[in-house]
Amino acid sequence: HGVAPELGHLQMVPGGRVCACGKRGCWERYCSGTALVDTAVDLLPTVRGRSLLARDAAADPGSLTGRRIAAAAQDGDVLAVAAMAEFARWLGVGLAAVADIYDPELVVIAGGVSGSASLFLDDARDHYAAALTGTGHRPL
Ligand SMILES: [Zn+2]
Repeated sequence: HGVAPELGHLQMVPGGRVCACGKRGCWERYCSGTALVDTAVDLLPTVRGRSLLARDAAADPGSLTGRRIAAAAQDGDVLAVAAMAEFARWLGVGLAAVADIYDPELVVIAGGVSGSASLFLDDARDHYAAALTGTGHRPL
């Protein structure tokens, strides 16, 4: 019907964030540049007074972008690092679900956030290994 494979719309979080596709909890609502911003906004209350990024976001909510979060994570900002950790978790968990179905030889990570792979890829690999069916019996 022309909609497969829409992997970004696999439901990862039942009842989760609303997606433009009409469902809730789709993978791309937790693992994309847009999702990175949403995650940072969700985490704002947890970092009061400890994050320059959070202070900037309070003054100008539009300043919170995936690119800005990645740059702040590079500088060690607590909010940005926490948002990037959540991104890594969802990337690994989601890829494991996809790998359980397709068993791919190669995964290509693209898009704007991929330019910041050094900030999340190692953690994503750990989450992937932990969530993948048959870990230890297949290459990671
Ligand atoms: Zn969706």
